[in-house]
Amino acid sequence: MRALVISDIHANLQALEAVLQAAPPWDEVWNLGDIVGYGANPNEVAQKAQSLGGVIVRGNHDRACAGLADLEDFSEAAAEAARWTQSILTAGNRNWLANLPRGPLQRPGLPLQLVHGSPFDEDEYLASRGRAHAVLTASAAKIILFGHTHIQGGFATNGEEDFRLVPHFSSASEADWFELPVRRGAQYLLNPGSVGQPRDSDWRAAFGLFDDAQDVFTWHRVPYDVSEAQRRIRRAGLPDFLAARLVTGQ
Ligand code: ZN
Repeated sequence: MRALVISDIHANLQALEAVLQAAPPWDEVWNLGDIVGYGANPNEVAQKAQSLGGVIVRGNHDRACAGLADLEDFSEAAAEAARWTQSILTAGNRNWLANLPRGPLQRPGLPLQLVHGSPFDEDEYLASRGRAHAVLTASAAKIILFGHTHIQGGFATNGEEDFRLVPHFSSASEADWFELPVRRGAQYLLNPGSVGQPRDSDWRAAFGLFDDAQDVFTWHRVPYDVSEAQRRIRRAGLPDFLAARLVTGQ
């Protein structure tokens, strides 16, 4: 079974389309949330996510844009984008977002969990090795797939040593991938990266592919039409910062 693992699309239709075009064949989609917020095409991206189906976890921006959370913890730009998204979402899409389940979700038959932030807090940013160790040792899952940080990579432990996982690519501008063999006796926290707003200094859209039969997780990057995504953000009157950051990947 091959799963296309996507997260943090953030209403970036150009990035999502590039990912779907570049992705190797998959059997189902695992979506780790933040489908909307920040970008200019929340309705189109929500529709696409619905038609892709699969396992879908809600993100904090999905919750906020559906009107289920107040915006006081959001930055000014994020809050402004959330209010704009609320104003433009169709009732059907808002309802769909409002009813997405919070993680952790399971995939029956596989020893893994799907979360937005962490298994213990959907809003937690998992960014340190120490915290990753604590999360992994408290969990029975072999693999925890997470998003939220917009940073591709992750963490592993074999019970004795902890590792930070960082994919290495030979190209900085073309489509590229990096394979991680999943080892027996180890536990993993794996982040596919952000489709629509990467923050790991790489502007390319990020995604992952998990091959259960081969026991391999592959990180992918793919170039997309950033200029068009920026043009739409500016045309929508969203904060310019949200357009500018796409090109630096920060
Ligand atoms: Zn996000």
